[in-house]
Amino acid sequence: MVIDSNWQVGRRIVELGVLAEKMYCCRCNVPLYLHDTLHERTTGFGSYLQIICTNQECRTVTDVPTGKVGRTGSFDITAKIVIGMIHAGLGYAQIRNFLTECNLPVMSKSCFQKHEKKIGKIFVSAGEESCKNAQQLEKEISADKELELEVSFDAGWQKRDSGFNYNSLTGHASMIGKQTGKVTCYDIRSKSCKFCEHHEGKKETVPSHDCCRNWYGSSKSMEPDMAISMAHKMNDNECAIDVIHADNDSTTMLKLKLDFENLKKKDDQNHTTMGITKSLIELSKRHKELKPGEVIPYLNRCFMYAITQNSSSELQIDEGLSRIVPHVFEDHELCGAVDWCTFKDDPISFKYKSLPNGKPLISEDLRRFRNLIEKYKSKASSLRNLGSTQANESFNHSVATKAPKSK
Ligand SMILES: [Zn+2]
Ligand SMILES: [Zn+2]
Ligand SMILES: [Zn+2]
Repeated sequence: MVIDSNWQVGRRIVELGVLAEKMYCCRCNVPLYLHDTLHERTTGFGSYLQIICTNQECRTVTDVPTGKVGRTGSFDITAKIVIGMIHAGLGYAQIRNFLTECNLPVMSKSCFQKHEKKIGKIFVSAGEESCKNAQQLEKEISADKELELEVSFDAGWQKRDSGFNYNSLTGHASMIGKQTGKVTCYDIRSKSCKFCEHHEGKKETVPSHDCCRNWYGSSKSMEPDMAISMAHKMNDNECAIDVIHADNDSTTMLKLKLDFENLKKKDDQNHTTMGITKSLIELSKRHKELKPGEVIPYLNRCFMYAITQNSSSELQIDEGLSRIVPHVFEDHELCGAVDWCTFKDDPISFKYKSLPNGKPLISEDLRRFRNLIEKYKSKASSLRNLGSTQANESFNHSVATKAPKSK
C-alpha cells in the first residue's frame, strides 16, 4: 500500500451520512479514524479513502466511499454534477474552472463526455415519454370538451444575435397543447457534429458514431421541416392535429398543407400585434399625425381590442374593426354601447386619453389607414380565437439558457 497524504489537500464533496455509516473496519468492525487514511483513490467526483484499522491485531485496510455509489460502480455525485451542468447551461471548461477555484477534484474531459452522452440518452427518452403522455392527455381533454386538437408551434435558433440569425448551426422547435399547456412534441436540426468535423478537419474517414448532424439545408428551412416531421409524429401516435397556432411564416404552413390538407391555421396574437404595429409604422412615414409616440400603441390597442374582445364571431370582429376609424376621427355613432369609448358618458368634455392633447385625428388623407382595417376585416376568420405561441417562446428561452455557446 502506497502511503500518501494528498488526501489532506483541498476539498471534497462528501455525503456525511454515507461516511458515518461506512467508517468501520470491514473485518473487525471497529470504528475507523479519518487521520488513519493511507491513500485516496478518486473516481469522478467521489473518492475511496483507504483507512487502516486501529486494532493492532487486525490492521486491515478498508475502502471507505465518500458518497453513494450506483449499480454501475460510479459515484452518484458525478452524474449529478453533469446533470447540474447541463441544467445551468455550462460546458466542461466552465465547470472545470469553477471546481478548480474551489479546490475540488476535477474529472477528466473524456470521463465527463462519457457521462454526458449517457445522461443525454436518458434525457431524450424521458422527453419522448413525457411528450407521449402529453399527447394522450391533450387528446382526452379536447375530446371531453368536444374541441378540436389545437397546438401552438414555434421554432428557435441558437446563436441569435439580432433578430433571427439564419446562419445558426442548430434549430429546435416545439408543439404545445392548447388544453394542457404541455410540450406534446419537439424536434432538433443540427448542421454540425463535433466528431465528424474533427475527422473531416484531418481529412480522415469518419468512424461510425452516434452522429448528431441531421441537417444539410439552410437554417431557415429547418422550421418547416421540423413542423412537418412533428405533425407526422403526432399523427402516427394517433393524435392528429386539427388546428395549429403559429407565427405568420407562410412557408411552414404551405408545406404543412401538402401533407395535411385539412389542417387549419390560426394566427398568433403576438405576431398579429407585431404585424399591425409594423404596418402602422410604415404608414407613419407618410402621415405625420401617426408620428407622436403614443398614437401607434393606441391604434394597436384599438385593433387588438376589436379582435380579442369579440374573439368568437367573425361578424363581431368585423363590427369591432369598423368602429376604429370613425372613433379616432371623432364620430362615435358606431361606438354605441362599447365600454372602452367613454364619449357617450360625457360628450361635451370627452377627451382621447391616449392621443396627443386629447384630440382626435383629423388628416383626411389617412385613407390608407382605412385600407389596413379592410385588410384585417377580410381575414376575420383567421383572427377568431387567436392563438398564442407565448408558451413556445418561453420554451425556446429555456432551451437557449441550457445550450452553452462554446464548450
Ligand atoms: Zn479491523
Ligand atoms: Zn457526426
Ligand atoms: Zn368612440
